[in-house]
Amino acid sequence: MSFSPSTVEPIGSVAVLAEALWAQREASFAQLGEAFYTRLPAAPLPAPYVVGFSADAATSIGLAADIAFAPGFAEFFCGNTTREWPARALPYASVYSGHQFGIWAGQLGDGRALTLGELELEHDGVRHELQLKGSGRTPYSRMGDGRAVLRSSIREFLCSEAMHHLGIPTTRALTVIGSDQPVRREEIETAAVLTRVAPSFVRFGHFEHFYASGQADALRALADHVIERFYPHCRAARDPYLALLDEVVQRTAERVAQWQAVGFCHGVMNTDNMSILGLTIDYGPFGFLDSFDADHICNHSDTQGRYAYRMQPQIAYWNCFCLAQALLSLIGAHHDEAARSERSIADAQQVLEGFKAHFAPALERRMRDKLGLAEALPGDDQLADRLLELMHASRADFTLTFRRLAQLCKHDASGDALLRDMFVDREAFDRWATDYRARLAHDPRDDGARREAMNRVNPKYVLRNHLAETAIQRAKEKDFSELERLAAVLRHPFDEQPAFESYAALPPDWADTLSVSCSS
Ligand code: AMP
Ligand code: MG
Repeated sequence: MSFSPSTVEPIGSVAVLAEALWAQREASFAQLGEAFYTRLPAAPLPAPYVVGFSADAATSIGLAADIAFAPGFAEFFCGNTTREWPARALPYASVYSGHQFGIWAGQLGDGRALTLGELELEHDGVRHELQLKGSGRTPYSRMGDGRAVLRSSIREFLCSEAMHHLGIPTTRALTVIGSDQPVRREEIETAAVLTRVAPSFVRFGHFEHFYASGQADALRALADHVIERFYPHCRAARDPYLALLDEVVQRTAERVAQWQAVGFCHGVMNTDNMSILGLTIDYGPFGFLDSFDADHICNHSDTQGRYAYRMQPQIAYWNCFCLAQALLSLIGAHHDEAARSERSIADAQQVLEGFKAHFAPALERRMRDKLGLAEALPGDDQLADRLLELMHASRADFTLTFRRLAQLCKHDASGDALLRDMFVDREAFDRWATDYRARLAHDPRDDGARREAMNRVNPKYVLRNHLAETAIQRAKEKDFSELERLAAVLRHPFDEQPAFESYAALPPDWADTLSVSCSS
């Protein structure tokens, strides 16, 4: 029997939610066993309160849109009630390893995250894990305190929702719960717990962990689990594990193409921050480009610029190598034993080459869409590259430039002024605009249709650092209205929202003083 969404009652109380999570306690990742995680309750958080909530994320996993008003919501989503949970259904922290800034870091793991469990939507059988971040120390905390601060939790909440509504696959954010409990970072801040939602939080680093620690059976069990749950068609391939690698490589390439096209810098593309589902995950010192600098480094802790905007595709490729290394022992079972090692390396290398083969056209297609070109013609790449060079030379605002590009007219320069103003070398811009118009002459659409299509791919509103900062400052004073307003604006990034024009404007001067780092 199948249900339609309307026939299933959304979960509106935390007691029912807890029951639903407990009922799935042996589900999916949890059934992999104790080599993969440790069950434990969250650390107590005094006097928790709701800071932010996404009704949209809630309903997407079968929760009621108003569950944030249910009694006990804040206590539940800071993890306080987990101390009374049955032992076998306790939340768990998973173990993984990873390469951080290009260097093998050994065992890491969920040092401040706990998965509460899984929810299965009755109408479509899709499962989602609910995970707390900032819920206290775990066996994998190393020197950390297990906490997250309000500032970074709000940033992750806003960016997860912003990315989702930009159409970029991501973990989602359900709620941020705050407390006045002090947390020491560069200065004293306060604690918060973010609940994030995803079909799986498995990272490249999970595979690296079992490979590097020589746990061959666990490595295979993990790969089988990921195939069975998320890539079932790979099972039918001649080499299922190679097919899995291929899928992940392609998804990763696709994701980074989306990041580049929207001017998103992740900031910490360590292998433990790479999702096996190709989701954007672990928002820390991320940033959307304001003025365009291809070498922009959004993370203040990244002194070498390893994770600069321009480097992201290369780094994603490098990270896929680490995943391939971890999977290599599983690959090539169908080869003759004597030749297996050599042949499986060749197979994996070929799949890795697929990154480039997938990334370049994926980005080219997006740049063509950004330029409003309905079909591909020779020379389109150069036209896009020349625009980016001009933007780089003038430090033109990335988001505004592409949004204003839609104003240009096919037949004359009457719509150029606003965009032209963004460039220091106006003559160079005029030369580019002349060539662009010559190219538009070959485009089948009229100005109106092209403009509409461009405005569906070039967002008007992105989560600029200064916008997040304003919401954070207000939230620190216990005024959460700006957070709510900003989140609402970011849910419609492509629409004109005349009442919120200022959210689309150039950053104010004080934004230059903002710096984000790994401290979170
Ligand atoms: P990240 O840079 O946020 O991806 O974190 C890298 C590793 O450090 C992960 O294993 C995290 O769980 C861990 N970690 C980060 N911050 C803390 C913290 N405050 N307490 C415990 N572990 C942390
Ligand atoms: Mg991480």
